[in-house]
Formats: sequence, C-alpha cells, structure tokens
Amino acid sequence: MDRKVRVRFAPSPTGPLHIGGVRTALYNYLFARRHGGDMILRIEDTDSQRFVPGAEEYINESLAWLGIKIDEGVREGGAYGPYKQSERRDIYREHVRMLLDAGKAYIAFDTPAELEATRAATPNFQYDASTRMNMRNSLAMDAEEVKALIEAGTPYVVRFLIEPGRDVEVNDLLRGKVTINSSILDDKVLYKSADDLPTYHLANIVDDHLMEVTHVIRGEEWLPSAPLHVLLYEAFGWADTRPDFVHLPLLLKPDGKGKLSKRDGDRLGFPVFPLEWHDPKSGAVSSGYRESGYLPEAVINFLALLGWNPGDDTEIMSMDELISKFSFDHCSRSGAKFAYEKGRWFNHEYLQKASDSELAELFKPVLRANGVNPDDFTDEYITRVVGLVKGRINFVADLWAQARFFFTAPGEYAEKDIRKRWKEDTPAIMTELVEVLKGLPSFVSAEAEPPVLAWVAEKGYHLGNVMNAFRLTLVGECKGPHIFDITELIGLDETVRRIERGIRNIQLPDVQ
Ligand code: GLU
Repeated sequence: MDRKVRVRFAPSPTGPLHIGGVRTALYNYLFARRHGGDMILRIEDTDSQRFVPGAEEYINESLAWLGIKIDEGVREGGAYGPYKQSERRDIYREHVRMLLDAGKAYIAFDTPAELEATRAATPNFQYDASTRMNMRNSLAMDAEEVKALIEAGTPYVVRFLIEPGRDVEVNDLLRGKVTINSSILDDKVLYKSADDLPTYHLANIVDDHLMEVTHVIRGEEWLPSAPLHVLLYEAFGWADTRPDFVHLPLLLKPDGKGKLSKRDGDRLGFPVFPLEWHDPKSGAVSSGYRESGYLPEAVINFLALLGWNPGDDTEIMSMDELISKFSFDHCSRSGAKFAYEKGRWFNHEYLQKASDSELAELFKPVLRANGVNPDDFTDEYITRVVGLVKGRINFVADLWAQARFFFTAPGEYAEKDIRKRWKEDTPAIMTELVEVLKGLPSFVSAEAEPPVLAWVAEKGYHLGNVMNAFRLTLVGECKGPHIFDITELIGLDETVRRIERGIRNIQLPDVQ
C-alpha cells in the first residue's frame, strides 16, 4: 500500500541549529514537497540536562526565515500532536509497558556508580546477553525483590533486550543495504524512572510510528543507531510500516579535512548558524547568515547543492525549482566540503535578482547602524541608490561602503586621489563648474552630462582631472557610480554645497 509521504525534522533544543541541521531540514522539506507529502517539526526535548533556553524559538525562527514551511508542529498544530516530546510522557510510558509485558525489555537497577565500577573492572564491558545476568536487573533478580525495590521508589531504567547473533539489515535509500550483527549492540536504555522520560531511541521510534512517518531523513551521525531502531520496530510489531532511512553525508570543513565545526566558522570568518546566536550562559555571540547580510534564497540554494545536484550543472534555483528537481538519486554519499566562498557568490547573484525596493528595505537597518536615519530620505531615493550600486556588492551591508556618500557628505578626502587629481588650478575650475551646473536646463543624468563635457572641451581642460576632482568633492575618493547619476540623485543644491566644501577643505599636498 502506498502511504502518503510524511517526513519529520526532529531537532533537540540543545543549542542553536547548526547549518548542517538546516540542510537536513531542507532535504526533508524538498522531499516532502516533491511528493506532495507532509513536513513535521518535532521537538525532541527528552534530555532535560542539555536543554538550552531559547533554542526552540531559534529553530522556529530559522526555518521561517529560510522559507522552510512546517505543516505540523508545536506552533502549527496537527492531528498527531503533541509535537514536543516532553508533552508525550503518557504515550512513552504506555509503550515502555508494552515492551516489558511482551518480554522485549527489562528493568535494571544498576546505579551509575555500579556501572562505572563494572566498566573499570571489565575490559570492553557491554551491557548485553553475555553480561546482563550478572547485573542487577529484573532478569537476574527474583520477582519479589524487583517489586519491593520499585515500591520503595528505587530509581531504575528500562533496557531493551537485544537477542545476540542476529543479522540486522538496515536499508538506506542512499547507501543501500547494510547488515550488522546484533551481538555488537548493547541493551540500550529506553526509559529512566528518575525523570519519567524515555531516551532518544524509544521516543524517536514511537513518535515516528505514531506520526506515520514514511521517511527518516537525517544526518549520518545517526546511522549507528539505525540497527537498534530496526530491532525496536520489530519488537513493537511495526516492521511492516517501518520508515525508509536516508542518512545524509556530513558537511566537511572547507578543505575537506574533517567535520565542519562551529570553530571553523570563527576561524575562517563565515557563519555556521542561520541566525545570530547569543549563548544564554556564556553571553558569547555567534554570527548568523541573516545578520551577515545573506538572503534566505541564496542560503537555501547554496545548501541544497552541498551534497545534491539536479543532474546537470544548473546552479541558480528557486525553492520551487529545487522542489521539482529534488531526488535522492543525485545525492552524494560522501561528505560535502563547505565551500563558503560559493555561498558568497550565490548571495551576489541573488542580490542582483532581488528588486531594488526589496534591497532598499534591507538597507534601512544598515543605514541606521551607520547613524543615518532612513526616514530622512524617500523610499524612492533609497531604492534608486541601491539600483546604482548593487552590481558591486556581495552583501547588503556592503551597500554602505558603496553608497554612503548618497546619505552624508564626505568628511575627508582620499590623499592619493588628491595627489593625483587636485592641481593648482583645480579650485578655480571647480568654481567655474559650479556656475556651469547652476546654468544647466536639466539635472537629469543623461541631459546634464553633454553640456558639462562641452564646457570642458571648450576650455581645453583635462577631462580626467576635472571629472575626478569633481568626484573627489562629491564622494571623498575617486570611485563610485557614474558621476551624473550621483548628482542627479543628490540634486543641484547638495552638489554645489559639496563642491564648495571641497574647494575650502581639500589641501594640496606639500610638494617635496
Ligand atoms: N533529536 C535528534 C537530533 O537532534 C533526531 C535524530 C533523528 O532525526 O532521528 O538530531
């Protein structure tokens, strides 16, 4: 029977969502949408020790920013809730009971100290068929004693009874069939009475089953858990509806040597988190793609191609295009180098595709951060400025360096440009220029330019020197867009003010 595709992204709120986790969420989303399926966001918060405040909100905000839409989850609701594991205790308790009643699990009282002592005394100790009868558990102890201990409130765990010597087959859509022998597995803890919570393994399997998940798409680091999960499905009698596995290869450091870590980002100067993260304990701030000026579409496109390709060399793809092309057939099985330079390239490309008015909105906070109140300018003005300079930027924040002179007059002038372009007669020529500009019938770029050029020619001035000196007064250095595009935008009055300021303030360097 063909089931409706249902996938889940199941992060633990133990810190900010890493960029590798974002890629996992993205592949889940692309696969679900490609097959008209559902995308679940399940919060796996059963490890209370590692809970970090703010992490869940961070996950929601990151996915929303990136346009990865959730169909069912804590905020979205849905028919299979609750979607937060700490709210599903009754369900897990009931399922632990099912395994105990079926003889597939047992109760163990060994304290952490006892286990540690055993480990220290027994080389390569593993809690399994070869050792469990020497331990303090319901298989080795008599029923009365077990009952008495439980009634006295002694903390215990429930362990999965692994039958040794069996071949366990894990079928991974990306990696094919992997067979391992059950003897290498230990009797994993499934539940702890102390906090009345299941461990990851039990909660994950029970929820995937109850939420009718059809495909478990997750990072390669979870591959070692897969045989245990296969056995758990079997123990519950759910083998027929077990989801398919896809274990995605790791994201590697840019040089390919080892797993991408948080420290690589700090070391090499690129973010490894979608959004800026303020660590609630240490107060440390880790940079994020959003705050670094990336467009979410660029981040998505970049991430999609880290471990997948569309079967040809198309690079720029919108979310809809990615959805229509996505399949595991073109996923790589080996790790993908985190080529962050390519991320910059994608951002540049997407900035060129974005509309000027969209970029203008993104530019406003940058203006504010640089002491300019964007409300002092019209949206049309900011939009036109952005249109003039966006070809030169990789990030929204670069707009400031490229366009600051549209918002504030230059405070100083580049010395090397003064040396090259500001001659003895320049102040006089600039004074003349002011008169020429004042006499122009139109200040529109294309109309203002010819009369000015005609004046330069008529006077026999050096065109390069005049225009660059003019530019120096407007911009503070000899760079920027077409000069008459600048003057058209800042207007005649401001142009004149800046030339006059230049005449007053630009000093000829001492000739040595
Ligand atoms: N809670 C696990 C994590 O943090 C989920 C792993 C899985 O997808 O099974 O990634």
